[in-house]
Amino acid sequence: MKTDGLNTGRDWLELQETNSRFIVLDSNDLIVSCNDRVKHAQFDLKMHTNLPLDCFWLDADQRTFHLSEFKQIVGKEIKLLFMPSDREAYRVKVMVEAFQLLDRPYYSLLIQDDQTEFSFNNTHPSYQMAQVLSADLKHNVLELNYQPQINIVDKSLYGVEVLARWTSKEFGRVAPDNFVALAEEFGLIAELDLWVLRQACKQLAMWREQNIHVPMIAVNFSPLSFSYPSLKNEIQSILDQNGLLATCLVMEVTESKKIKPSDPFIDAVNELHSIGVTISLDDFGTGYSNLKRLLKFPVSQLKLDRVFVDELPNKLSKELSEVVLSISKKINAVAIAEGVETQLQLSYLADIGYRVIQGYFFSRPLSALEFETWLLKMPMLFNK
Ligand code: C2E
Ligand code: CA
Ligand code: CA
Repeated sequence: MKTDGLNTGRDWLELQETNSRFIVLDSNDLIVSCNDRVKHAQFDLKMHTNLPLDCFWLDADQRTFHLSEFKQIVGKEIKLLFMPSDREAYRVKVMVEAFQLLDRPYYSLLIQDDQTEFSFNNTHPSYQMAQVLSADLKHNVLELNYQPQINIVDKSLYGVEVLARWTSKEFGRVAPDNFVALAEEFGLIAELDLWVLRQACKQLAMWREQNIHVPMIAVNFSPLSFSYPSLKNEIQSILDQNGLLATCLVMEVTESKKIKPSDPFIDAVNELHSIGVTISLDDFGTGYSNLKRLLKFPVSQLKLDRVFVDELPNKLSKELSEVVLSISKKINAVAIAEGVETQLQLSYLADIGYRVIQGYFFSRPLSALEFETWLLKMPMLFNK
């Protein structure tokens, strides 16, 4: 049967003689061939794996592009930005064609340098910062902080929220809001979020070994990270490697305009829920929280945004914190108030029925070691 593009042995030979770089993938997305120019260009394409971190869409939604996705764009041309860590970034055009050889399906990626203008160039400060972030992720330069979440009814530890910290040699300490936004812009966010998850699971496994009781870890996941292919399998394998059950993992997600209704986001969230991961809606009550969507979404936790807590006991904040609590009851979710700093805020929230509290009143985010010390002293918090 004739397919578009290459379909004969002769075309195959011609392809091998081309001056352009090319890669041939089989139907399992394995690289079966590439020409020397690709090899010499050190494309860093690894067999059996996705394209490396340093590969980005330049189209509307900038994100990492994965080998398996090429199949979906046969007959089309796309533009990618490569950011190899050892070289300057460059933009390429990739033409994808399907062909048959000895009755087997393959597809070829023809790669040409793209001379059109860069949307950001490699002297741009945020581009340079993204490259450093990418390298620092590879070299485990980032660190994690843990902030306790307290069940104020039985005075126990409910869980910890995991927060990433980045101090780079080049840029010093960078605020999480800034490097998370940077990672989102440059397609590094799934790698960041998965890196955090891996380290946090390792830490939880270590605590369990030492009989340090931490019931759950809550890890932040950007909505953009949900387009990472086979996210569920990746997460399951991280849990398995550390001997952890999915029920000890909470994924905190903030709704955002970046999620379009057609996105795989909702499906991915449902899949994760189906393996036992708890889904928490972060910053609830601000921005893009969408009540209608709550119905489609297996949410088991709602986090009252700290801007409301901050303004307690202002009348509107009081009403909103009550609304969030009553919504959580209706959908059978746990309401968590975060950013609680004062006794006044705590008393008010406790009186209206919040059971789980997070904030400086109990503890700032801590290093693993500081957290272990804090945990020993936790019973004393309630004897104040
Ligand atoms: P978030 O998820 O809302 O995290 C809570 C933020 O509130 C943290 O800021 C925490 O340090 C701060 N906080 C906690 N208690 C209090 C309090 O009592 N008072 C005040 N004023 N602040 C409090 P942080 O660590 O700067 O993180 C900022 C944001 O960066 C996070 O907001 C989260 O959206 C994002 N982020 C951090 N780590 C990651 C990560 O690994 N992945 C992703 N995707 N996002 C992350
Ligand atoms: Ca959070
Ligand atoms: Ca939050």
